[in-house]
Amino acid sequence: MHVTWNQQLVKKENKSLVLNLIINHSPISRADIAQQSGLNKGTVSSLVSELLEEQLIYESGPGESSGGRRPVMLLFNQGAGYSIGLDLGVNYILGVLTDLQGNVVFSKNEKYKNTTYEETLNHVKKVISFLINAAPPSPYGIVGIGIGAPGIVNKEGDVLLAPNLGWKNVSLKAEIEEAFHLPVIIENEANAGAYGEKKFGIGQQFDNLIYVSVGIGIGAGIIINGELYSGFNGHSGEVGHMTIDKNGMQCRCGNKGCWELYASEQSLLSKANELKLGNKGDISLGEILSLAEKEEQSVLVLLEEIGRNLAYGIINIIHSFNPQQIIIGNRLAAAKKWIEPQVQDTIQKFTLPFHQTDINVNFSDLSLPISALGVSAFSSENFLKSKLQVQ
Ligand SMILES: [Zn+2]
Repeated sequence: MHVTWNQQLVKKENKSLVLNLIINHSPISRADIAQQSGLNKGTVSSLVSELLEEQLIYESGPGESSGGRRPVMLLFNQGAGYSIGLDLGVNYILGVLTDLQGNVVFSKNEKYKNTTYEETLNHVKKVISFLINAAPPSPYGIVGIGIGAPGIVNKEGDVLLAPNLGWKNVSLKAEIEEAFHLPVIIENEANAGAYGEKKFGIGQQFDNLIYVSVGIGIGAGIIINGELYSGFNGHSGEVGHMTIDKNGMQCRCGNKGCWELYASEQSLLSKANELKLGNKGDISLGEILSLAEKEEQSVLVLLEEIGRNLAYGIINIIHSFNPQQIIIGNRLAAAKKWIEPQVQDTIQKFTLPFHQTDINVNFSDLSLPISALGVSAFSSENFLKSKLQVQ
């Protein structure tokens, strides 16, 4: 029989519907799938057979019955393959190996310092090789590699600009694909963090959220109606370069008074160094926070100011997007204890009343490798989409 394009599309959609019901409602019976999807039992049965054959799902013992024979239950085979996610920081690489549902099987943390692109690439490859070797046996093996990078990434996976890594126009995706012969996704680190929070972190209950990544620079990942919005060319979220003082300090982007000059980890470090708080003029965030722990007054004042400056940019974001949630993530989230009162207070004072209704301002839970989980989830989802293509 000749299968038309339209029939193929319908089949793909139905198969995706069935698989998603199994992923989200495991264990579930064929009858319940039919009932919840509105598909007829014959269609469900044939799609389930295909998914069983592809080892994406499996059958388990009989479940509860409302009378009569107890039905066979279907479960998602989350160990059908494994995905790798890397959070590529300015001085660290955090890699995770996850199953298809995002459960971390292994993680690997590697620190490095001020190296060339080639050397950083070698560290990246080393972490990936370690995780590939750590993967348990599975029908599909490693299904993909995702990397979250702190910079502007185009849709081809080139890192166009990562000032804090000193990178310009590097074909990261092509290099990793060539080395491992696996599908590779490169995503901006803030987008990866936003998706990670939405899927696995404190953003799970919200469909409209903005993740503000505050590290050496500031970037944002935008989730609208449950989906990542990355802009026409993939460059959305460069909020660190919104002008908050047109007569302000010179930014390396060419503008003046950019938000990240007043509210990032870098600005905190610079100010602490100006106050000669460090021994050698290169104080670290950890040292600043331990001084705060000891209630060192000048540090507390500095952190309060950073909190207020952070709030000014966030207020602009709230006014622009009217989100349900703002998540402050990345390195400065470690200063939550000292900056949160100013952040919350300033937002309450200066946000328009309409926009205050239903807004939640939260901090990331830094014990979760949220960016790595986010890019790993992108890889798993791409793999599942590819399996749903009708042959
Ligand atoms: Zn700038």
